[in-house]
Amino acid sequence: MFYNIQIFSTFYKLFHFFIDLFSNLSKIDDMKLQILGSGTILPSAFRSAAAYVVMVEDKTLLLDMGPGLLRRMAEAKIEIWDVDFIFFSHFHPDHTGDFVPFIFASKNPFGPVREKDLTIIAPVGFGEFYNGLIEVYGKWIIPERYEIHIEEMVEERRNFDVFSILTARSNHSSESIAVRIDAGGRSLVYTGDTDWSEGLIPLSEGADLLIIDTAFPDDMKTPGHLTPTEAAEIAVKAGVKRVLPTHFYPPMEDVDVAAVFAAASFMGEVIRPLDLMIIDI
Ligand SMILES: [Zn+2]
Ligand SMILES: [Zn+2]
Repeated sequence: MFYNIQIFSTFYKLFHFFIDLFSNLSKIDDMKLQILGSGTILPSAFRSAAAYVVMVEDKTLLLDMGPGLLRRMAEAKIEIWDVDFIFFSHFHPDHTGDFVPFIFASKNPFGPVREKDLTIIAPVGFGEFYNGLIEVYGKWIIPERYEIHIEEMVEERRNFDVFSILTARSNHSSESIAVRIDAGGRSLVYTGDTDWSEGLIPLSEGADLLIIDTAFPDDMKTPGHLTPTEAAEIAVKAGVKRVLPTHFYPPMEDVDVAAVFAAASFMGEVIRPLDLMIIDI
């Protein structure tokens, strides 16, 4: 057992070495994704809760803010003040847990203080959700030197700076939405948590990368989430080029997702998620 932990630790250090080598995302002028959390709310030594970062030119967009995000941002060398946009798929703690620490850290006087505005793209009700958090934490999570712009969206397209955002309802919680990001001819779709939803197919049509909830193995179907076979069916129907199954609960560690997707006739590339992995879109 000790031997295995040592091998894992060496592998982890080596992995970080290469991540450090290649993670200077700010110099890249096309679209990139970095996984900051491919796991769930269950504690895991190597999968943080749901969080991703998308870099388009010089803009930084976070997709969900699961607990552990701030640590992963530090590992990926992404500073708090680098973030221009945050997208929330829904309000569950494994997707919003590091929002309060992020806003609190943005006010911390020890280090550069955030001064650029922040745009939050979120389901309807986010303003109320944030006000509820302010009732608990008070002024500690109210910015003083910058503004937060909240854009609540359901099923619509809006243009922001260097990218266009299209949202669709997902099938998980009452507020939950999925998102498509288009920029410079590239496209990425993030489903957030979801069960089967017809609307995900047109949303994902021809996307370069589909980041899709694949929470439990086929024989452990859990309402509110997709199995690998269901996720593959959406990927096939939408004709996406590459797919990133994610939001892995522990039983998914034993599943050969690429084999399940292939068996479901998905012909594109299946990327097995690993925190801090960088994917060119
Ligand atoms: Zn959820
Ligand atoms: Zn979740």
